[in-house]
Amino acid sequence: MASPNDDIPPDLWEECKSCHQLLYAKELASELWVCSKCGHHMRLSVWQRLEITVDPGTFTETEGDLPLVDPLGFPDYMPKLVQARAKTHMNEAVLTGTARLHGHRIGLALMDLAFIGGSMGWVVGEKITRLMERCIAERRPAIVFCASGGARMQESLVALMQMPKTAGAVGRLGRAGLPYISVLTDPTYGGVTASYAFLGDVIIAEKGAAMGFAGPRVVEVTKMNLRPEVQTAEFQYRHGMIDLLVERAHLRELLADLLDWFQAGKG
Ligand SMILES: [Zn+2]
Repeated sequence: MASPNDDIPPDLWEECKSCHQLLYAKELASELWVCSKCGHHMRLSVWQRLEITVDPGTFTETEGDLPLVDPLGFPDYMPKLVQARAKTHMNEAVLTGTARLHGHRIGLALMDLAFIGGSMGWVVGEKITRLMERCIAERRPAIVFCASGGARMQESLVALMQMPKTAGAVGRLGRAGLPYISVLTDPTYGGVTASYAFLGDVIIAEKGAAMGFAGPRVVEVTKMNLRPEVQTAEFQYRHGMIDLLVERAHLRELLADLLDWFQAGKG
């Protein structure tokens, strides 16, 4: 049966997944993809995130030529990777590069859930590590926007090895006296939570973001007795796991203030 909304062009209106109101797409972009009715923060692609975060025209991608890898010869994995590349226009689940934010030179990584759940395999771990090393070489603060389902199952132990590898790189950045700001967005789970996501000198979370070590599916399968609110930014903030909980509208300004503060030598 035809619904009354069938005549509305899909690119003109978007439905809020939280309150189910139809929102005018153009207005939604100007409101940084936050629902004007209920305040729900919608998930962003890396391209949307880039647009609302860095100074216009300053982003230069790095490590964009890393090849797709299938270290274990996992069945049907390579076609999935090829498909994810075509869908997201990214070379893997994280985009890395250099940019300016409020004039500050930064190293930046942005994760995208649309690329195999934003999961971390060898390429993601390698790109995060190389970004940290570039930041050390070029004396840049690092900012990482996390969005991930966790370690990538198809790469098994190779994926898990990215946890100590990236954690080590973050440690080297710290020892070089450079700040690392981690921004947790909806959702951040698993091996990413247990490595670089929660290692920031400053850990920021967007309001309403889901986060935790075990994702909802793991919680369900293992029959863990976990209250749903535990895996939220608000709960983690109240219990001291997160330093700052912010609305998206204030995030860029907050990052600029923190970069000013670190540059002034107060960090
Ligand atoms: Zn809403």
